[in-house]
This record gives sequence, structure tokens and C-alpha cells, in this order.
Amino acid sequence: MKLLVFGSLNIDNTYDVDHTVKQGETISSLALNTYCGGKGLNQAIAVSKAGADTYHAGCIGTDGNDLVQILKDAGVHTELIKVDPSVRSGHTIIQRDKDGDNCIILYGGANQAITKDYVDKVLTHFEAGDFLILQNEINELAYIVEKAAERGLQVVLNPSPMNEIITGLDLSKVSYLILNEIEASQILDVAEDTDPDQLLDGLMEKFPSMKIVLTLGKKGSVYCDQTKRLAQSSFSVPVVDTTGAGDTFLGYFIASITSGMEVAAALERASKAAAIAVGSAGAAQAIPTADAVERF
Ligand code: ATP
Repeated sequence: MKLLVFGSLNIDNTYDVDHTVKQGETISSLALNTYCGGKGLNQAIAVSKAGADTYHAGCIGTDGNDLVQILKDAGVHTELIKVDPSVRSGHTIIQRDKDGDNCIILYGGANQAITKDYVDKVLTHFEAGDFLILQNEINELAYIVEKAAERGLQVVLNPSPMNEIITGLDLSKVSYLILNEIEASQILDVAEDTDPDQLLDGLMEKFPSMKIVLTLGKKGSVYCDQTKRLAQSSFSVPVVDTTGAGDTFLGYFIASITSGMEVAAALERASKAAAIAVGSAGAAQAIPTADAVERF
């Protein structure tokens, strides 16, 4: 079985500044660090490190070699990634001040240059029973869901960032929905502090045939389908950086499920992987190897 992540590839440029720039002001940056990111890239790395046969599809410009390399280094097949010379790769410009607060400009770039023709070509490499993981950082999401479901792929959706594109999707074609409390409350149009059990009741009522994982940050996660509801606590670790915890969790959970693991064991493994990620800096570079998760 193959696993396809069709998603974003981003270059994150982080500028350390004394304070975030004000209107009309020019300031010097104290340091520049460049990281590979995007929820698609992070999730592909997590799924691959967890042991699944992983492919990434998405679009970059000619400036995106590092994005391909980091995926290759993690064992992800990258030959389906499209290089479009007419656009820049997706990137962010992040100002991080001395208190750690930040301001971010996101340029979608090549992530928003996905064409229907490219989607069709990518999907010919996959067949019924293969898994597709999607987030909401590329264009043509509705078309990808429709065509993947037609081919019999199992669609996993992480509705992040949550916006009207997600609410406009035909979610009946999604097999697994993996989301946090804020995304769940937005899908249901209820208050953000709604009790997690109520969120799951609402989601199951709306999407009865779905398998849902609600992640609750340091409070853990809950899996729910028509027959069962399983809760998993998080593992307590000194927190260094929670960025990418959700991506690590998702990658390890889905890779574990596709390898035939029971849901409870998959939740536990995903929570261990996410806890390790929370204990180190960065997103992609903080995703642990399967051996590290085993030892944890
Ligand atoms: P992000 O968007 O920051 O990647 P998310 O909102 O999608 O995250 P969370 O619910 O914050 O996802 O976290 C996913 C999982 O990561 C949790 O279910 C938990 O297992 C683990 N996790 C998150 N925060 C912590 C923490 N502080 N300590 C231990 N584990 C954590």
C-alpha cells in the first residue's frame, strides 16, 4: 500500500529582530534562519519516518531544491513533485522578537499553482486502498478529494488552516478527519471552549461514517468511530517548541494504522512521537525516527 501526501512545501525565513517592524520603519535583523516547512512537508516526513511507503505531491519553483532534499533524506519519494519555473516556492517571512512573539507573512507561491491536469497525472500512480493525506495549504483541494475518492483512495483530511474552503468540501468522501479543538468547533460552528466529548458527538452526528481523531494539545487525543471512542493521554515532557506536534502526531498515527496496528496502539505511538517533537526545537527537524519513538 502506498501513501500520498498532496500538500504544501514552504521555505520559512525567520528573522530575529529587537521588535517587529512598525509602519514606515526600517530595522536590521540580528539573525536569519531558513527552515523547510509547510504542513504537507512535515506530515510527509513524519509518515515516512514512521515507516510508510510515502510519496509527496505538490508544487515548487526552481528555488525549492532544499525542500526536495529534506524529503528525500527522510525517505520520501519526490519524483511526483512538480517544478514550475514561473513561480517562487511557497515561503514565509517571520519576524521573531526578543520575547519570542512573531509576525508572519505567508506567500503561497507554488503551493497555489496546482492544476487539475497535474492532479490527474499524480493520481494515476495510486489505486484503490492507497491512502491520501491532505491539509488546507494548497489550491484545488475539492478537486483532489473528488478524484481521489473516485479512484477508491482512503482520504485523510487535516482541515488546517480552517476556512471556507474546508466548509465547502464534500466531507462525505473523507475517511479520516484529524483535527484540533479549534478546527472542530469551527466546523460545527460552536464555541471554542465546547467540551471535547460534545465536539465528538457533534462531528459523529454530522459525519457518521468517518473515523475522527480530535487532538487536545497537552490534554492528549481522542479517537472516535461508529463503534468506539478511545482516549489517549499525552506524554509529559519539558516543552521546547510545540510547532509541528500535530503534524508529527498525524503522520505517526496514519502510518501506524496503514501498517495494521490497532487504533489504541497507533494513538499511543503517535502521542510518543509528538511528545518527542514538542521536546525539541523546530518542526520538520524535530520529527523523531521510528527507533527514537520505540525507545521513548
Ligand atoms: P500544531 O498545529 O501546533 O502542530 P495541533 O493543534 O494540530 O498542533 P495539538 O492538539 O496541539 O495539535 O497536538 C497534537 C498532539 O501532540 C497531542 O494530541 C499530544 O499528543 C501532542 N502534544 C501537543 N502538545 C503537547 C505537550 N505540551 N506535551 C506533550 N504532548 C503534546
